[in-house]
Amino acid sequence: MRVASYIFSLMKNGRFRRRNWLFFLVLSFSFCLFPITASAAEEVVVVIDPGHGGENLGAEYAGYTEKEINMIVANAMYDELSKYDGVTVYLTQNGDAELSLAERAEFAASVNADLMIALHFNMSEQHTLFGSEVWISAFGEDYQEGYAFGEAVLAQFDTIGTYHKGVKVRLNDNGEDYYGVIRESHARGVTTALVEHCYLDHENDTDFYNTTEKLERFGRLDATATAQYFGLSSQTLGVDYSDYEKVQVELPTSVVKPDDTPPDISYIELVEADKENRTLTIRLSAEDYDSGMLYYSYSLDGGETFSTLRKWPEADTFQFTVEVPNGITPHIVVNAYNKYDILAESNDIIVEGFPLVSQAEPETETAQPETSLEVIAEAQNNVANTLEDVSESSTKENKEPDRSFMTFLTISGICIGSLFVLLMIGYSYLHSRKKKRRRKF
Ligand SMILES: [Zn+2]
Repeated sequence: MRVASYIFSLMKNGRFRRRNWLFFLVLSFSFCLFPITASAAEEVVVVIDPGHGGENLGAEYAGYTEKEINMIVANAMYDELSKYDGVTVYLTQNGDAELSLAERAEFAASVNADLMIALHFNMSEQHTLFGSEVWISAFGEDYQEGYAFGEAVLAQFDTIGTYHKGVKVRLNDNGEDYYGVIRESHARGVTTALVEHCYLDHENDTDFYNTTEKLERFGRLDATATAQYFGLSSQTLGVDYSDYEKVQVELPTSVVKPDDTPPDISYIELVEADKENRTLTIRLSAEDYDSGMLYYSYSLDGGETFSTLRKWPEADTFQFTVEVPNGITPHIVVNAYNKYDILAESNDIIVEGFPLVSQAEPETETAQPETSLEVIAEAQNNVANTLEDVSESSTKENKEPDRSFMTFLTISGICIGSLFVLLMIGYSYLHSRKKKRRRKF
C-alpha cells in the first residue's frame, strides 16, 4: 500500500519522469515474478504408491500379506508427509485396486510428480536374507536423484536398526530398469524409488514390522526422508529440513551397471583352535571392488550346511569365533556375500584333533553367544548321532535284551510256582474226600 501511495503521489506531483518509469517497470516485473517463484517453491508433488493390490497380493508370509501392510505404511506416510508445508501428496490408490505398473506411472506423470515412492516388503528364495534396500533407475538424473533419496530413507531406517543393504539398480535382459514401476516412470519423466522396507521371512526383521504401530513407524520414516530430500519444513511438527544435505553422486553419463560378479577376494585363515573350549577363531578377508560386502556365513562340514547369514562388519578383514560341536572334525568354509547378494566361497581348512567329549560332561553349546541357532541345532544333531553310534557299537544294545530276559525268567518262575502250589492244594483236597467216603461206607 505504501508503494502504491508513493507512486500515486509521484504521479500527482508531476514528478513521474523517465527514471521513475524505469523504477515502476522493475517493480511491476518483480511483482509478476513473485507469484511464480513462490508457487515453484510450493509445488513439490509426491506420489506414494503402495505396492500390489486386488488379486496381486505381493509377498505372503506367516499370515502377513504384503499388499495389506504396504497400505498401512502408505497411509501413515501420507498422513505424516501432509503435515509439511509446500508439498502436495497423492496416493496411487487407497483401497484395494489392482493397478498395472504403467497405470501407476501414468498417474504420477499426470500430476507432475517430482518423485514417486513405491512401498514394498521383501522375501528371499532361501529365506536367508534380511535388511532394507532401495531400488532406483540406472539412468541419468533418475539415478542421481533416486540415489540421494534412497540414502535419505536408509539413514532414517538406520535409526530403528534395520540392516542397511544399500541403494541399488537392476536391469532386465533388454538393458532397461528391471522393476516395472521404475521403468514405466522413467519413460514418463518421473523419478521413482522402490523401497523394500525389510524381509517378511527372516527372524532378524520380524520385530520391525509385526505390529500396526511398527508399520506406521516405517511410514513416518519414509515421510521424514522425503521431507529431508526436498528440504521441507513443518510448522505442525516443528521441524525444518531446509539445510538438509543430500548424498551427492555424479550424474551418470551412461547406464549404471549392477554388480553381477561375486566378491573379488574371499579368504580365511585359522587364528586359533581352542580344543579345550571347543572354539575356532577364524580371520576372514573379503572384498568386492564393485559393490562392497554385505553378509557372511560359515560351514563346519566342508560346505554342506552353512550358518545363518551374519552382518558384515565395517572392515575388509576381521576375526570371528565359532563353537565346534562335539563329535566332528571341523572343515571350515566361509561364504562372503556382496551388496547384490552374490556369494564367493572361501578356501577351506580342516582342523584335526578336537577330542570327543564324553556325554556325562556338561555341554558348552548353549553358553556360547557366538553360535548361531543353526549351528546349535547341528550340534544337538551331532550329540544325538553320537549317542546312536555308541548304542550301536556295544553297551546299550547288549543291556536291553539282558534285562528283558531276566524279566521273562522271573514271570515264568512265578507262574510255574503258582501252578505247582495249585496242583498240591487240588491233590490234598481229593485225597481227603476219598478218606471221608471210605469212612461213610
Ligand atoms: Zn512387493
